Amino acid sequence: RTVYVNGEYLPENEAKVSIFDRGFLMADGVYEVTSVLGGKLIDFDGHAVRLERSLSELDMPAPISKDDLLEVHRELVRLNGIDEGLIYLQITRGAPDDRDFVFPDPEKVTPTVVLFTQNKPGLAANPQAAKGIKVISIEDIRWGRRDIKTVQLLYPSMGKMMAKKAGCDDAWMVEEGKVTEGTSNNAYIVKGGKIITRHLSNDILHGITRAAVLRFAREAQMEVEERSFTIEEAQSADEAFITSASTFVMPVVEIDGVTLGDGTPGKVAPRLREIYLDESLKAAM
Ligand code: PMP
Repeated sequence: RTVYVNGEYLPENEAKVSIFDRGFLMADGVYEVTSVLGGKLIDFDGHAVRLERSLSELDMPAPISKDDLLEVHRELVRLNGIDEGLIYLQITRGAPDDRDFVFPDPEKVTPTVVLFTQNKPGLAANPQAAKGIKVISIEDIRWGRRDIKTVQLLYPSMGKMMAKKAGCDDAWMVEEGKVTEGTSNNAYIVKGGKIITRHLSNDILHGITRAAVLRFAREAQMEVEERSFTIEEAQSADEAFITSASTFVMPVVEIDGVTLGDGTPGKVAPRLREIYLDESLKAAM
């Protein structure tokens, strides 16, 4: 694989980052994952805009312009011959001379910018979408700024492991009795044709796929309600699903051992998946 590190394209085994990098020592960094379909970038603009916001919320200067970022994404797709897959981008505050809690002076330390590709043939035709996934619920004990896409992914990672141990695919996190989101995705239920998903706040990541899917749903005259819901409400819903850049729209067929409806993905989620894939491919860059 050819990867990108601070302005250079290198074979992955030659790419290096300092041990003093604050991303490594303190998870002081942000990231984005953009999907590639047909060799083109899905929702690139949305990801670039959210990246800028994550950086500014953490007082990090943007080390690369949106146009240059687009070029790097495209170049990595080309160099690695990616038809379907993902591009991972990470920006950290950089590597000061020593470990210190205080942010380094941005004049003295340059941020670390890393991008790499993940080849995923069959991403759009994922057979899991026809079966749906099973989720468990776990308490949401993450910090209070989940709207910033930081690389602090230990708890979501533990949540995935708890799900795996329980023979499931993912975990929905619950705070004050209400579902916040999945470990790496936004969570939805469908009741009487209405799509219900948690409203935006600092409690969840403002998913780029979420924004697109809700827009397409409204354009298709589907009813959308942005509010929180409990696990019990989800278990008695007609359908449930998740969205993310890597899963697009993925039906959920079981929550904490309770089968939803007849245990199949239902109508709304598969339709939204189809619309999302069609429309975002048309707009791909
Ligand atoms: N919530 C969390 C916690 C996530 O990690 C992600 C994906 N990284 C999402 C939601 C979905 O966001 P997007 O649609 O932008 O991939």
